[in-house]
Amino acid sequence: MTGADFVTRFAPSPTGRLHRGHAFSALTAREATRRAGGRFLLRIEDIDAGRCRPEFEAALLEDLRWLGLSWEEPVTRQSERAAAYARTLQSLRDRGLLYRCFRTRKDSLEDISRAPHGPAEPLAPGPLPTGEEARLLARGLPFAWRLSLAAAREALGGFSNLAFQEEGAGPEGQHGLIAADPGLAGDVVLARKDLGVSYHLAVVIDDAAQGVTHVIRGEDLFAAAHVQRLLQALLDLPTPIYRHHRLLLRPDGKRFAKRDTAEILADLRARGVTPEGLRAKLGF
Ligand code: GLU
Repeated sequence: MTGADFVTRFAPSPTGRLHRGHAFSALTAREATRRAGGRFLLRIEDIDAGRCRPEFEAALLEDLRWLGLSWEEPVTRQSERAAAYARTLQSLRDRGLLYRCFRTRKDSLEDISRAPHGPAEPLAPGPLPTGEEARLLARGLPFAWRLSLAAAREALGGFSNLAFQEEGAGPEGQHGLIAADPGLAGDVVLARKDLGVSYHLAVVIDDAAQGVTHVIRGEDLFAAAHVQRLLQALLDLPTPIYRHHRLLLRPDGKRFAKRDTAEILADLRARGVTPEGLRAKLGF
């Protein structure tokens, strides 16, 4: 394999300090790159201006350098990519694949309280009747853009050709050629009310723009691959190979959370843990 055949990325969101689980994920991607003789990119996923902070970004760069990682410059920041996202959204709108959704957080909470124990139905509210939409627009109410699965199905002539290669494993051991089932997620939001873009859209556009061939990330994002595969098909973008890895768990078997301050890398470092020691402990 040559460099261009293997391009992967670590894509943290600067919403808190990096913990042991992030270190495991970054090292997994870096190690795979080393073995393949490929390229390793860092992408800062900072579209959510309300939750992301420059000091978290500075801290994460420092933590990753401390771990011994290096990456290609320049680093891509999603906060600088709004124009590319807006262009793609416009093209999807022009093709009739999106509709406005005025639902509020309160609407969602009311749904949950109506069916507290039922399975969370994939949300697909559908476009509003034209008059109703015009009335809400005239009132200046904010809206999100959702992808219409019905319109997407029609545009692609069905979803049966959508598959992706999983070289790692999903949470239930899914491995090999996986048939994507975009219906699982409903009509996903591609442009949030508050941000004008969403995680799925930004990731798919950027993975393609950066020539990412292998997406290596935690198995908690396995379900996202089903949606992302659909977006790749709609946007005529290449589909990377996926390698979801197991999540590193805390000693009590729970997931790390950003509030687990005892496990953040800065704290481990302050307690005298060395990068070599941590890498060895994580199996690298
Ligand atoms: N930014 C995402 C996160 O921090 C990762 C996105 C991805 O790898 O696709 O969980």
